Amino acid sequence: MSGDIDIDLDRPGKRFGTIRLVHSDNRNAFSVVPVPIAVIANGDGPGVMLSAGTHGDEYEGQAIMQALARDLEPAHVTGKLYILPALNYPAVLDAARCSPLDGGNLNRVFPGDPRLGPTSALAAFVAREIIPRCRYAMDLHSGGKSSVYTPCTYLHWGGDLAHRRAKLEGARAFGAPSVVISGATANAGSMTAECDRQGVVMVSTELGGGGTIDRRMLGIGRDGVRRALAHWGILRDHPKPELAAPRLLMLQGKGGTPMAETDGIFEPACDLDDAVEDGQIAGRIYPIGELDRAPCDILFRGPGIIVSRRVGSLVRRGDLLYNLASPVDEAGLGIT
Ligand SMILES: [Zn+2]
Repeated sequence: MSGDIDIDLDRPGKRFGTIRLVHSDNRNAFSVVPVPIAVIANGDGPGVMLSAGTHGDEYEGQAIMQALARDLEPAHVTGKLYILPALNYPAVLDAARCSPLDGGNLNRVFPGDPRLGPTSALAAFVAREIIPRCRYAMDLHSGGKSSVYTPCTYLHWGGDLAHRRAKLEGARAFGAPSVVISGATANAGSMTAECDRQGVVMVSTELGGGGTIDRRMLGIGRDGVRRALAHWGILRDHPKPELAAPRLLMLQGKGGTPMAETDGIFEPACDLDDAVEDGQIAGRIYPIGELDRAPCDILFRGPGIIVSRRVGSLVRRGDLLYNLASPVDEAGLGIT
């Protein structure tokens, strides 16, 4: 497995091209995974990676990045934009979170390795060829087919104090109603962890989900990307946005997250953004084929704010039903 690209990443101008990952499997002795990329470059400003489709079934970001790649021209920017609207291209074509070629979750395999299959090879190409050209990055996620999120920017709380401050400022510029922060050790294989390792300021998002495009989330994301680009000084003729004052939330560990305790049909008892208490009923699971068996009530095991909830109603034991976060302030984050 190896990869190359059919356009120049550094010259001024606007180009559409493909990252070509050579791939061999049972269907094709020799084939190429063509990942679409747009380069828009002009002037001396910083490099920025703008991606979506890291998970193929998350659509708000894909639509936003497709439009941005068409609409922005070199005259609009100072810097180099690398726009990847369908980053895990095989997963996007399969309407799936992970790649159908190797089952790989692109947001779990950074820094990647060209020898370990197409998903890891793609991560390696991004880590070696795109991220080092950038000072900033945005990767737009949603809940995908299996969950929906409250509209938020999403920060991996790694790096030194200045780096964390820059991420939080980027999130405030983006302007989504909430900022959800995950611990620095949450996922060492994520793209944002790789950006932390390379000193690149990355702001991610969770915008809706459910395997569709929510128009409210689309509007928040579309505005937010331009606001963040203006904040970073990349958009010419675009005033710097006022920094928003979003709700700050620290993601809780999975230990307190309610999960399905039996197989069945899940009936939720709560909605996104609800503040819940320890012992409160999260929902109920009906065993499908055993009408004489009592439904299973699921309880929250601690207080929190619901930031995401499962979409599919048919659940299996072990499925996570909600993600909870706790309110936090800048002092609590250690950045005042
Ligand atoms: Zn995602």
